[in-house]
Parts: sequence; C-alpha cells; structure tokens
Amino acid sequence: MSYLDLDLDLTEEDKELRKAAHRFAKEVMRPIAKQLDEMTPEQVIAKGSPFWDFMRKGYELGYHTVLIPEPYGGMDLTPKQQAIIYEELAWGSVGLTVAIGVAAFPAFGASLVAEQDLIEKIIEPFCACRDASIVGCWGITEPDHGSDTLLPFYPSFSDPAIKAQCRARLDGDAYIINGQKSAWVSCGTVATHCALFCQMDPSMGHAGGAIFAMPLDLPGVSKGAPLNKHGQRDLNQGEIFFDNVRVPKEYLIAGPEAYEALLEITLSATTSLMGVFSAGVARAAFEEALAYAKTRVQGGKTLIEYPTIQEKLFHMFSKVETTRRISRAAYIYNQNTSTPAEEYSLVAKVFGTNAAYEVAHEAIQIFGGNGLTKEYLIEKLYRDARAMLIEDGSNDTLAIAAGHKLIKTYPRLDG
Ligand SMILES: Cc1cc2nc3c(=O)[nH]c(=O)nc-3n(C[C@H](O)[C@H](O)[C@H](O)COP(=O)(O)OP(=O)(O)OC[C@H]3O[C@@H](n4cnc5c(N)ncnc54)[C@H](O)[C@@H]3O)c2cc1C
Repeated sequence: MSYLDLDLDLTEEDKELRKAAHRFAKEVMRPIAKQLDEMTPEQVIAKGSPFWDFMRKGYELGYHTVLIPEPYGGMDLTPKQQAIIYEELAWGSVGLTVAIGVAAFPAFGASLVAEQDLIEKIIEPFCACRDASIVGCWGITEPDHGSDTLLPFYPSFSDPAIKAQCRARLDGDAYIINGQKSAWVSCGTVATHCALFCQMDPSMGHAGGAIFAMPLDLPGVSKGAPLNKHGQRDLNQGEIFFDNVRVPKEYLIAGPEAYEALLEITLSATTSLMGVFSAGVARAAFEEALAYAKTRVQGGKTLIEYPTIQEKLFHMFSKVETTRRISRAAYIYNQNTSTPAEEYSLVAKVFGTNAAYEVAHEAIQIFGGNGLTKEYLIEKLYRDARAMLIEDGSNDTLAIAAGHKLIKTYPRLDG
C-alpha cells in the first residue's frame, strides 16, 4: 500500500486521474517551472516562453476546466477528484498550478450564477479553448486594500469609511469602472479576462461590492509591468488599471445585495484549495528530504540512519498527511453546501500553508548547505511555500477572521 491510498474510498477513476496528473506534473511542470524560476518576469511571459508551453499542454488536457461543471464543457469531476488533481499539479509547481487555476476564475465565478449571457460569452468559450488564448485572472486586492478585501462578515468589511480604489457605477445599459487592482493579481499581465471584485455601493464599505466576469480588451483597460518576486516566480503577477471602462450589463455576476455571501462562497473554495495545494508542496519537500537523507553519507553513515533525522521525517510526514485530510475534507464539504463552513476552509489554508512552509524549512535543514543552493529543488520549494503564507490572504488576518466567526457560531453538542 502506498501512503496516498490511506483513503479507502478512492475509485479506480480517481486513481487514474491522479496518475495522469502526476505524470503531467513530473514530465511537464517540474522542468518548465525550473526554467521559469531562473528567468526575469518579462522573459517568463514572452512569446515562445516555456510558460506558454505549459499553459497550452495543460489546456489540451483540460486542466484549465477542473473547476467547471460538465454541462458547460468542464472536466466533470467530483470535488474529491478536483482536489486529487490539484494536489498532484501543486507537487509539480504551485506557481503554475495557481496560473492555470486562476485562469478559470471568470468562468468559475460565472458558473455560480449561470446566467445565459455569461454561459455563452464567458464559460463556454473558455472551456472550449485548447490553445491558452483565453486566460482569466482574479482582481480583488488593491494597492491600499489587501487583507481587508478578504474578510467578509468581519466588522470592518461593512465600514463605510473604507473607500476602495476600484469602483463601478451604473450608466444606462453598462457599468463604468475606474481605478486599479494590485500588483499581486495572478496572471494579471497576461489575462484576457478578469473576475473583477470591486466596490459598487461605497455606503456599505467593502460589502457593497460587485463581481464582473469581463473581457480585458475593452477600451480603458491597461496593465502594469510583471512583478519580480521571491517565490512562485513561474507565476505571472501584475496590476490592472481601469480608466472609464464601459462594461455591458451582461458581464455582471452579482451586485451589492449578494456580494458578501458570494465572496464567502468563493473564499471557502479558494482557501481550502490553497490547503490542497499545500499538501502537494509539503509532499514534494518531504520526498526530496527523504530521498536525500537516504543517499547523503555523513560521519560514516547515511543521514537516514540517524534517529533525529528519522524523527524529523516523521513529523514532516505527519504534516503532509494532516494537511491533505483537512484540506480535502473542507473543500468537499464546502462544495456540497450552499452555506459554507468557511472556518474549515481557513483551517485548511492556515494550517496547510504553515505546514508546507515548515516541511520545506525542515527539508532544507536535512539538506544542510546543499539545501541553500540552486542545484536542488528544495530551495525553490521553500521560496514557493513562503509565498503561500500571504497568497489568498495573510494567515494572520485569516486566523483573526476565523476566530471572530468561531466565537459567535461554534456549536457545542451539549447545547
Ligand atoms: C503569490 C500570491 C498570489 C496572489 N494572487 C492574487 C490574485 O490572484 N488576485 C489578487 O487580487 N490578489 C492576489 N494576491 C494578493 C494577496 O491576496 C494579498 O497579498 C494578501 O491578501 C495580503 O494583502 P497585502 O499584501 O496587501 O498585505 P496587508 O493587508 O498590507 O497586510 C500586511 C500585514 O499586516 C497584517 N494585517 C493586515 N490587516 C490586519 C488587521 N486588521 N489586524 C492585524 N493584522 C493585520 C497582515 O496579516 C500582514 O501580516 C496574491 C498574493 C500572493 C503573495
């Protein structure tokens, strides 16, 4: 039995999907991610870059539609199968997994309401795309608004004193959008479409938001330079600017009346998926350390023969397994309910990304000096894992929000 089969309910189909995703992660993603990691942000997205080879190959296999239901042309996967595939892809490279995952964001957001216009204009063309010529992004954070944009139902979220930097207002048969999104928008400078989360009713603070699934070739849209950063260098990121952009009404997913609830549903999916990705990254780091400890001879013995190394590896393994269990459970649960238990997704995100970071950190310790060199994958895994503590919400603020919710809602069996 392999440890990955601890889940006795895995079907033959689940195992086949996992095998195929693992092959893609190993043969395509890892080599490409290594090349991209050493490039400048401009080289990463240049025409002919290996980034586009990855995207095209991923789209050919349908991995851009993992999250999209089958009636619209998606892969027709159960939530468990989605998690299985994403763990393998993140084992290959979390940066590239985020790239192909966020590419689906406008279509994924549109599928939550499934209006006919959105199905025809956004979801179906994206699912049918096989050459990565349609790439989505998620524009929610702003230069002056990071953590506070990701805390629905936290008191500050409906504070009217908070003035967002990207706003929409109705003008006849269209919305006019002005402002900008932060330099952190994943796939921001290469995206053709955006799931734009912006403010519509300032009297409600962030809660007065609106969600659009919109094309980015409209007059008035411009992009910043690709961001140069420490980890996940294979993931393009950059600002998007909106200067009196006229967006036809049919691209609206939801207005202020539904914004906060839809954002919570969205975050319940994205944060638990960050936990799923963490299982892939943590497992990759654990496997690197295990393999290295078996071959490195120090003081006349292989490292693996030393009890302290065995103990370290056990604790790393525990974190990998625990991360997979809680993340998969939180994701599956929240995909099966219309009133998400966001606190479990936040456990997955906060516990999982911390675990991935700690496992990568311990792995470097096992590698010794070699762990700091570019010769070994572990150095990149460590930088990638570091970014995850902030990605999709800083762990500190997410924990504050989850704690606030728990205090109010935690039920006791004894009443
Ligand atoms: C790899 C990566 C990918 C990303 N992808 C996207 C994307 O696709 N789209 C997008 O829009 N954004 C994206 N982001 C942005 C990300 O969501 C933000 O970086 C994150 O929410 C934190 O916001 P910030 O960086 O502005 O930090 P800040 O909000 O300025 O926080 C800085 C520090 O202050 C703390 N802090 C903030 N508020 C409070 C508070 N009320 N109480 C106590 N402490 C507080 C935080 O915990 C943190 O430690 C991405 C970020 C990364 C790193």
